[in-house]
Amino acid sequence: MNNSSKPTVTIARGDGIGPEIMDATLAILDAAGADFKKEFVEIGEASYLSGNSSGISAEAWKAIRDNKLFLKAPITTPQGGGYKSLNVTLRKTLGLFANIRPCISYAPFVRTKHPEMDVVIVRENEEDLYAGIEHQQTDEVVQCLKLITRPGTERIVRYAFEFAKMHGRKKVTCFTKDNIMKHTDGLFHKIFKEIGEEYPEIEKENMIIDIGAARLADTPEMFDVVVMPNLYGDVVSDIAAQISGSVGLAGSSNIGESFAMFEAIHGSAPTIAGKNIANPSGLLKAAEMLLEHIGQGEVAQKIKNAWAVTIEDGIHTEDIFVAGKSRELVGTKEFAEAVIARLGQKPERLPEAKPVEQIKIEIPKYARVQRKKEYKGVDLFVHWSGSNPDELAEKLHALEGEHKLSMITNRGVKVWPNGFEETFCTDHWRCRFERVGQETESRQDIAVMMARAITQDIDIIKTENLFDFDGVRGYSLGQGQ
Ligand code: NAD
Repeated sequence: MNNSSKPTVTIARGDGIGPEIMDATLAILDAAGADFKKEFVEIGEASYLSGNSSGISAEAWKAIRDNKLFLKAPITTPQGGGYKSLNVTLRKTLGLFANIRPCISYAPFVRTKHPEMDVVIVRENEEDLYAGIEHQQTDEVVQCLKLITRPGTERIVRYAFEFAKMHGRKKVTCFTKDNIMKHTDGLFHKIFKEIGEEYPEIEKENMIIDIGAARLADTPEMFDVVVMPNLYGDVVSDIAAQISGSVGLAGSSNIGESFAMFEAIHGSAPTIAGKNIANPSGLLKAAEMLLEHIGQGEVAQKIKNAWAVTIEDGIHTEDIFVAGKSRELVGTKEFAEAVIARLGQKPERLPEAKPVEQIKIEIPKYARVQRKKEYKGVDLFVHWSGSNPDELAEKLHALEGEHKLSMITNRGVKVWPNGFEETFCTDHWRCRFERVGQETESRQDIAVMMARAITQDIDIIKTENLFDFDGVRGYSLGQGQ
């Protein structure tokens, strides 16, 4: 933010329908009395095609970094040519750790199978499989590392609870798959329980993601705020927006410690660009979240109510227009004018908006805890084209010194000792060596094992050390172990 008390918002009008919906949105914000300065930047297609492979120029970066608030219309990512997704770049570069997507149905005025739906998806935005650490390890096997961190999980979970508190919401549900991923998703669930205790007034619930997503698609009215790791959030938030019947009506915010970015969830819809038929509501909803973020919740409330009256009055853009039910088919600009004409009015059937306090999330400075870490052994990952694990075990015994081979798995399933010949095996073997000598630290023995592997022609493609932390095993067992 600049030094003056009035914030400056960086604004990108985007591509395709972007400029039309941005003009409509800004007209409504101005008429409602939104109080911020605007700095316009160009990002997206023109920037990509002028040679910025990430779709953003140095000047645009400067404005975004100076102002810290960003209202962004959708952009077009050119097909092919190795262009990087600007959204992922923005999210990661600016540390936008929380993605907030309210998914609300507006029945009976907008068609939906779920008239009672009012769910907010809070998606962790930076970690998990999106760390993008991938390797091909053998002829047959590629790997993507799933990283769940304590600091990253603490802040997203805290954000979910604070969001619920500020918006008067009653329940926060956590989706994980910790019955399978006991360490990664297990940590997310554990932190959800820990932080949840600080919010006694809010109901807490944990669900395994598969049944949770199924219930959300079937009975969304049983959910309120739902928090989850990145990949699940990516999938579930699209499903939730779609089933609310109103993808074109949904906005989202991307929140970081110092930066925040607001946008519609839809894309640049190039086939309807320039025709004045796009619905500006998704971007308008994002702009309402911006206003709440900067402490102008009353202006947001006024816009929400006027928008709801417009929808109740049957003044609809083409995407939600239903002949016989809607009253008037309007274009982008005319829809904005209709909302402006209704500023100050309150809806009769749709819920009336309440003012929202500015969300100020005090994320306690992360205090790193040094745990007692005890070395227990090492998993050697081996590229081997044979098929009989007994043969591999025979070769591996030659590596033993202060470690003893205790198990071989293939795709996580134990195949030695006492494996089943029915188990399908690839060329990627995880060979667990447990430390046997208690006197020495034993870790230098890993280097000895590696050297022996070279002389024995054993192709080690990766090692992963095994530790207990504070006496608790910090690694998974083999399936069937
Ligand atoms: P899209 O969301 O642009 O369009 C999907 C469908 O929804 C189309 O039929 C479109 O006409 C309709 N639609 C979307 N927004 C609408 C609105 N406001 N009013 C009325 N109808 C609307 O998705 P797409 O076609 O897969 O992608 C088009 C371009 O948008 C691609 O270049 C893609 O990379 C980009 N995109 C950008 C963002 C972003 O900037 N955040 C997000 C998604 C896609």
